[in-house]
Amino acid sequence: MLLFFLILIAMTLASFTGLVVDRLPLGLSIITGRSRCDHCQSRLRPFELIPLFSFLIQGGYCRHCKAKLSWLYPTLEVLFSLLFILAYYQLLDLPESLILIASLLLSILDFRHQEIPFSLWLFFALLITAINGFSLSQVLWLSFALIAFFWDLKIGPGDFLWLFLIAGDIPLLKQVKILEIASISGILYYIILKKKGAIPFIPFLSIGYLGLLIWEKIPSL
Ligand SMILES: [Zn+2]
Repeated sequence: MLLFFLILIAMTLASFTGLVVDRLPLGLSIITGRSRCDHCQSRLRPFELIPLFSFLIQGGYCRHCKAKLSWLYPTLEVLFSLLFILAYYQLLDLPESLILIASLLLSILDFRHQEIPFSLWLFFALLITAINGFSLSQVLWLSFALIAFFWDLKIGPGDFLWLFLIAGDIPLLKQVKILEIASISGILYYIILKKKGAIPFIPFLSIGYLGLLIWEKIPSL
């Protein structure tokens, strides 16, 4: 029963963070909720706002204008539920869960806009630091972020700010390892998909973090 409520909370939280991801970069309100279709502005009824189920029942299309609904919400709802289930079975602790949520949101934003909203980063930075305490390597990444803000280091300030988030939770050596995994997978992605231009690097850093986390959790399963 507790798990059921946790999944309900996870899905509600996912819907809210979907709003944050969609609206924060555009400077729109995140308080008013998702009450209208983004395309035709039809007012959505309560049954059209049930996490995941509305999307599945409507087949991924708006009931009024038949526009395709965003995959962002159902994806976040599934991932948040998964995360809460893993936390419930104590396979993830609180800092790890927060880092994963922050990584997911910042990855989407970095991928879409090639920059991250400072306010969102600050929210997670304060929360994670409050739990883990301050570590010396955080000073390192913060300094790099400042330098990258003024000079072109090829790695943007947002990427260093992401490293700040994980710095209180894992040793520096592992942080560097994640940076390596991210660099290699980022380069491979660009070569294989023949991409050009700036790399949204946070998704690759997050993949590196997730990979290392899974690698370390496997022996305890
Ligand atoms: Zn519509």
